[in-house]
Parts: sequence; C-alpha cells; structure tokens
Amino acid sequence: MPNRKKNLSINRRGFGLKEQVAGTLAKEYKSGLVKYLRENGSTLQVGGLRILLAKEFGFCYGVDRAVDYAYETRQKFPDKTIYITTEIIHNPQVNRKLREMGIRFLSGCEAGNYKFEDIKPEDVVILPAFGASVEEMKHLIETGCVLVDTTCGSVMNVWNRVERNSRDGFTSIIHGKYSHEETIATSSRALQFEGGRYIIVRGEEEAQVVCDYIRHGGDKAAFLKRFEKSISPGFDPDRDLQRVGLANQTTMLSSESLHISKMVEQAIRDRYGEENLKEHFRAFDTICSATQERQDAIIELGAKKPDVILVVGGYNSSNTSHLCEIGLRYAPTYHICDPGCIVSRDEIRHKPFGQNEEIITRDWLPPGPVSVGFTSGASTPDKVVEQTILRVLECLGLELSLADILPEAPLVNEFAAN
Ligand code: SF4
Repeated sequence: MPNRKKNLSINRRGFGLKEQVAGTLAKEYKSGLVKYLRENGSTLQVGGLRILLAKEFGFCYGVDRAVDYAYETRQKFPDKTIYITTEIIHNPQVNRKLREMGIRFLSGCEAGNYKFEDIKPEDVVILPAFGASVEEMKHLIETGCVLVDTTCGSVMNVWNRVERNSRDGFTSIIHGKYSHEETIATSSRALQFEGGRYIIVRGEEEAQVVCDYIRHGGDKAAFLKRFEKSISPGFDPDRDLQRVGLANQTTMLSSESLHISKMVEQAIRDRYGEENLKEHFRAFDTICSATQERQDAIIELGAKKPDVILVVGGYNSSNTSHLCEIGLRYAPTYHICDPGCIVSRDEIRHKPFGQNEEIITRDWLPPGPVSVGFTSGASTPDKVVEQTILRVLECLGLELSLADILPEAPLVNEFAAN
C-alpha cells in the first residue's frame, strides 16, 4: 500500500497558525486593486486604459493552502532547518520569499547546494503542492524528519485513480509532461502494484501514435524510442496497451485531455469491439476544478474582445501556459513572468506558447485608447497582477498610485488584508 496511508506522523493539516501568518500573507501576496475589481464587475476605465480582468484567476485552493502551510511551518519551527523538495508552486516571487525566510530548496529555481542526504531526523521537510514521488517519500520517511505535506487533494485524487488502474491490471495513459513534478509523482504511483505500468503523452500527436499502435501494432523499437522518457521500466506496448485507463496532469488543457480520452476510447473500440470496451478501457477526467474555472474564465474574457491579453505566471507553470494558448484564439496574448517584462509601451518580453525561451516583441500595444485583458496562473499572487496593471498604466504615461485609481483608495489596503 502507498506509504502516505501508513505514516501517521506526516502533517497535512497545518499547525493551526493561520491567523498568525494571515497578515504577512496578505501584505506579500494580496492586492487591494484586484479585490476592488473582483467586487466591481472586473472592469475599470483608467485614462486611456480599459482594464478587463478575468472572473477567475490567480491562487487556487491548492496553492493557497500550500503557501499558507509553508508560512505556518516557518512560524512553528523558527529555529529548525527547513527544506522543501522543490518549488512549492511554479511562481518565482513566492519561491524567492520562501528562500529569504531561510527555507532550503533541494531542487528548482531557488535550489541551493543541498542534497536529500543532508536531511537529519531533527529537520523539517515541506512537500510542495504537486506532491513528491514514491521514492522521495520513502527516503524522507526513513530519515525520521518532520514532514509537512502540502500536496493538493486534487493531485491525490489522480494518484488514487492511477493506483486503482495498476491494481486492476490497467496501464495508465497520463496526459501530461513527463518532466513536470506533478506527473513524476503521479506516474510513480503506478509502480506501487505488481505489474503496474504507465505511459505519458504530451498531446494529441503522441496520443495518435499510441492509438495507432493499439489498433494495428507496429514497430515496437521505434515506439519505445519515441517514448523512452515517458514510459514505465520494461514497458511492452504489445502487452501494456491492451487494457488502459486515462488520467491527466491536473493543469493540462481540459479540452485536449477530453479529446485524447475519446481518441483512445475509439482506438480500443476499433481493436476489441464495443462489447469489450469496459474490459479494456477506463476514462477519467482528472483536470482540477480550479484549472477548469480559469480556462473557462479566459474564454469569457476573450469574448469581450480586448486588444491584448496579458497572462502573468511562472514560465514553468503548466496551467499558465495553457491560459496563454487559449487567449491566443481571441487576441494577441503575452505570457509574462512578472511586471518587469513590460519594458515599455513599445516592447515586451514574454514566452510564446509552446516555446522554451523568452523573446522580445515590439509594438505590442496598439496606439490610442486600449483595452487589455489580464489573467494569471493558479500560482500567481494577486499582488503581481496589481503590479502588472500599474506597469501598463505607467507605460501609457499614467504613473498612478492606488489612491489615484480607486475612489475608495483609503480602504484598499484593508481590502487586501481581508
Ligand atoms: S491547480 Fe488544481 S491540482 Fe494544482 S494545486 Fe491548484 S487546485 Fe490543486
């Protein structure tokens, strides 16, 4: 059985210090301007800028909880050495803050020169919202350290599904990115049961290769080469694609996950017949509700026809990059990691969807009055969205404070704290 069910010493509920850390969290991550917009129709005209804010964006319930627990952990153990296995969420500002609080990163963008072997029984280790692999969990439990597990319940839901697939003799086909922390943790769950297998598909193109093999078989060596980084050890497509169950990384494009599920279902139907479908195929949509709501909200935002959409979030954030993908259907859309990417009215640094490197685009804002849509990934603090809005105003020649923008300005900081 999975270790997480056995080990009762793992803290998954925080330390009851929510109130003590609330003020700091509000100051660092919340925004009076964003709160005002949320409560007043998500639209505001300031000078020549029409601000259109998505209805749902920013911190999801899983991220909120993970960040809260990390701050509570620091508060609870002021004198202990605290590690975190990797980035708590994919947001550079939040990770930098945790490092500044003395939390040691074992990997990720804030990684210091620390190793798992350095961890002592008296230390504390935080597990991020994406969870940790079975191997990592085993190692950490053996050290006897205090574990603070912030794994999101929606991620654990996927683990349960993958474990059930393995237990029942189904190979998990996981729609995700093989190098993403969540998918690494999820795929490791498939191996906890004898004969457990998985294959990770990045998108519809790879799913098509799998479907073709299900239907007709094919060149096994070429298949294994193509998926060498995304299959379980000893994977044999002739044996392991006979009974398959779908799962996905919680932050993928939900429409693509559903389409892939339908593609695989049809391939199984073609191979084994409708009457045997249940014996060979299991569908399961494991996109979390927060991801779905943010994807729906940018569609709604796009329907308002903004001139430009800005999507704010870490460049390694999967859900943020999918928001950019959707935004592009409606308007020029720029994925920026922080307000500093907005160099001027003429120049913006951003990561185009599907590319790894940041580029510079000129003339990104049309002349004259403009409407700009704003949204952010599930790991982006509202404060960063506020700074982005203020930066756009600055580029339009409007160097304004919150007091200039909002009639209720004296209250905005109180808004942020509530
Ligand atoms: S995006 Fe979804 S699965 Fe990931 S932390 Fe947020 S709520 Fe949890």
